[in-house]
Amino acid sequence: VTEIIRKRIQLQPVIVFSALGKTTRNLLTAAQHAAKGDENSAAQLFEKHIKNYHYSLAQNLLPDFENSQTKNILQQYFDEITRLLGGIAIIRELTPRSHDKILSYGELLSSAILSAVLENAGIAVSLLDAREFIITNDLHTRAEPHIAETEERVTQHILPVLESGKVPVLQGFIGSTCEGITTTLGFEGSDFTTALIANALDATDIQVWKDVPGIMTADPVIIANAHTVKSISFEEAAELTFLGAKVLHPKTIEPARQKNIPVHIFNTKDTDASGTTISENPDSGANIVKSIAYKRKLSIITIHSNRLISSYEFFKMVFDVLDRERVTSYLINTAETNIALAISTDDITCTLLDDLEQFGTVSIQDDMASISLVGKNLNLSGDFATQVFNQLKNQKIVMIAHGSSPLHFTFVVQEAAVENCIQKLHKYFFKELDSHIFS
Ligand code: ASP
Ligand code: MG
Repeated sequence: VTEIIRKRIQLQPVIVFSALGKTTRNLLTAAQHAAKGDENSAAQLFEKHIKNYHYSLAQNLLPDFENSQTKNILQQYFDEITRLLGGIAIIRELTPRSHDKILSYGELLSSAILSAVLENAGIAVSLLDAREFIITNDLHTRAEPHIAETEERVTQHILPVLESGKVPVLQGFIGSTCEGITTTLGFEGSDFTTALIANALDATDIQVWKDVPGIMTADPVIIANAHTVKSISFEEAAELTFLGAKVLHPKTIEPARQKNIPVHIFNTKDTDASGTTISENPDSGANIVKSIAYKRKLSIITIHSNRLISSYEFFKMVFDVLDRERVTSYLINTAETNIALAISTDDITCTLLDDLEQFGTVSIQDDMASISLVGKNLNLSGDFATQVFNQLKNQKIVMIAHGSSPLHFTFVVQEAAVENCIQKLHKYFFKELDSHIFS
């Protein structure tokens, strides 16, 4: 990491650190154990995978760690986490607000260690607390930033550091409400933080360093020989991340697109590889499909209207409920008296069902997954749908969306069929590769 930064120091970087390894997951699991009253499991997980893990990293990376200020900071964070886990275990409840508080330590720990490592390597840094300038609403676990306020504060906090010739270092993923309560931006939120900061500072470039090669033609877990997509448009990348590609936080693209700042995804394990560049008008290449994404754990909710209200009122009321419950629908099909929605199974709550049942009967199909083919002009090829379904003979298709966007073709199948469908589609659409676009 130090070498990656040192090589780019003349670009005047602002460094955003994410949590190390699986720390965010581990913090969450420890908190969930605590909430079940299993304080022992929580404490064990914390000792071994959070505390010892960070301590030994810091010991290995920092000379004289034992007498350092960094050690005091880590010690203080570990004490706070221990007290928080204890508190959660007593009330046996992990509220979204405490979820954010406990998860924020992943980035606080990584930025404390890594800023000391950089300083030690002779890079003058200034460690900032992102919660002082990433200001969000209180929608804990997926908080939404107040853009204007954030922009103003980012400029106030970061510009002077840059002007003083130091490298600003801060945490991704975390923010705070106007009242100073810690929030988080959702998984992979560090990407989003980076894009917000780049937007506010009119940066020339966003570099997201991950441990994967970039955006791939499909999930390498399913397609072992998936290829890296070297260049892709903001619009395509936004669709891909919304439709399930996990490589970037879905909201990363918009702040970058607004100011036309290219986003590069690079691989820390292969620092010379070209990775993926997301930009305004990339060469579109010969392949019609750029990548295949999927989303598991979906349910199809179908609402049959009770016909006491007109169809436009029916639609309005269904969407009002989604709005109130903040449920995202990934696919929507409508008929005069029916609406079918593909939503995340986790979003199904009693309140949602009660609200929907007010104006009709509701049925639910679980264990569904969506598969999306993403590319620039899918609608221009008149037989695109035929090509897709020719590869999927005998496959039961539960729902289809085509036409609302030229950028994707999405359909829903049983979750168990995901691998098989993606393998067939990948074989067909990436049989020949345009070497300008893929590597
Ligand atoms: N640490 C957070 C996560 O694991 C945010 C991030 O990695 O960008 O999702
Ligand atoms: Mg991460």
